[in-house]
Amino acid sequence: MQITLENQVAIVTGASSGLGEASARALAKAGAAVVVNYHSKAKPARDLVKAIKQDGGQAIAVGADVSNEAEVDMMFQKAIDTFGHVDILVANSGMQKDAAAEDMTLEDWNTVLSVNLTGQFLCARAAIRQFKAQGVLDNVSRAAGKIIHMSSVHQTIPWAGHVNYAASKGGVDMLMRTLAQELAHQRIRINGIAPGAIRTPINETETKGASGRKLLKLIPYGRIGDPDDVANAVVWLASDLSDYVVGTTLTIDGGMCLYPGFINNG
Ligand code: NAD
Repeated sequence: MQITLENQVAIVTGASSGLGEASARALAKAGAAVVVNYHSKAKPARDLVKAIKQDGGQAIAVGADVSNEAEVDMMFQKAIDTFGHVDILVANSGMQKDAAAEDMTLEDWNTVLSVNLTGQFLCARAAIRQFKAQGVLDNVSRAAGKIIHMSSVHQTIPWAGHVNYAASKGGVDMLMRTLAQELAHQRIRINGIAPGAIRTPINETETKGASGRKLLKLIPYGRIGDPDDVANAVVWLASDLSDYVVGTTLTIDGGMCLYPGFINNG
């Protein structure tokens, strides 16, 4: 069965690198017009737009800080001015500022929470307002809109030395499930993805050399993930093939959440 997202418009935040970039490419390949959001790196976002257009797709690059209410609203307005509607939001932007709890500054705590949790709330709120204003569009999708929140296995697995990040992702889980419960009756479908270790700029050092080999011990399936492992799931969750999937987190981790420490342990 082939997935088509033709006539649909997707906003992907943090799409100038990593999982956002792969998701934007995959959504465009499936036929969606894509808003490629970036924070500080305009060039890779513009290059991605160029590549999508060269492949016959539609895309624009929009700079916006997801933790800034006015910039998020501006990003949605640009999407609507350009493409007329919004059908899919991939709230993907995220960051780490790691430190032992006793050394973590309030600023680093607040920055991570602002981007990873408040940023996802602001984008979801703007999407919900737009989906409700549009209603269910004929010949577009069975849902009035779809939101995919990029979480992490650390919504479940505690992570020493990363308390701000783990707390933000735990928050994303409850944000996603509460919004899904609140909006399902409006035919707005909201789900999450919890990646394990996927090779992207966020974990460049952890996935290489000796650190990479140590990391592999946590992954029963025996490989570090590729961005397309996540992007393929984004396309499926955005499509009508997953129309009855509501308020669920899809874990994509090669088995990292299966307590691999218990393998051969008595
Ligand atoms: P990445 O660093 O390549 O991507 C993060 C993106 O977020 C970047 O494009 C960055 O510019 C953007 N961003 C940061 N602050 C922003 C802001 N204020 N406004 C808008 N955009 C902002 O890393 P990635 O691995 O692709 O991460 C994408 C998402 O996946 C994040 O939410 C991350 O927590 C999550 N994740 C990644 C992994 C992994 O192994 N790579 C695992 C679990 C979860």
